[in-house]
Amino acid sequence: MFANLIFDWSGTLVDDLGPVLEATNAVLGRYGLAALDREGFRRRFRLPYHEFYTEMLPAVPLAELEGHFRRAFAASISPVTVLPHAREKLEWCSQHGLRTFVLTSMDAQAFELQLDAFGWRQYFEATYAGVLDKRQVIHRILATHQLAPEATAFIGDMTHDVETARHGGMTSIAVLTGYNHPEVLAAARPDLTVAHLGALRELLDKRRAAVPIFNPSDLPV
Ligand SMILES: [Mg+2]
Repeated sequence: MFANLIFDWSGTLVDDLGPVLEATNAVLGRYGLAALDREGFRRRFRLPYHEFYTEMLPAVPLAELEGHFRRAFAASISPVTVLPHAREKLEWCSQHGLRTFVLTSMDAQAFELQLDAFGWRQYFEATYAGVLDKRQVIHRILATHQLAPEATAFIGDMTHDVETARHGGMTSIAVLTGYNHPEVLAAARPDLTVAHLGALRELLDKRRAAVPIFNPSDLPV
């Protein structure tokens, strides 16, 4: 049973694919590239995002693209919403005393705004945003919070999340609610794949029921 869960943000807890797709297409359009549709994006986009942009626009410096993206994201009209089952999953973690964290590549300022807008700050022991390559910080997070990798799972919607979990020696749990097409995600071979966080909650509930609970009062005196 896991004692600690590290969550990715976009596509795992919140659905911001609408504004991200809008902003990405604004960046691509600026350089004369055709817009991607939702499924095209889910097949091609990857983290660290500089790899995606190197493939799409190899001649343009990343800082320039980031500036365009940030402005287009702020101006986007598509809403950011809480994914179904996300709030219930966080409540469940809180009720069962699990330690929870966020590790996301999202721009730190945008992340902080969303965290407060949804009123979710109290759910997390610590959050890490604006991390371009999650593999580079995962060991530091484990050490800082003294998390045993064998009691920890990283939950995310992208192959980079699966690779990060593997790099940290923890269980990788993939959700199909986000940025990667299921076929793309399956190729990264996550330890566990669930359709959404509600399915994960049910699965962990069953496991909890299957694990006998030790009650000291049952011991003979
Ligand atoms: Mg994500």
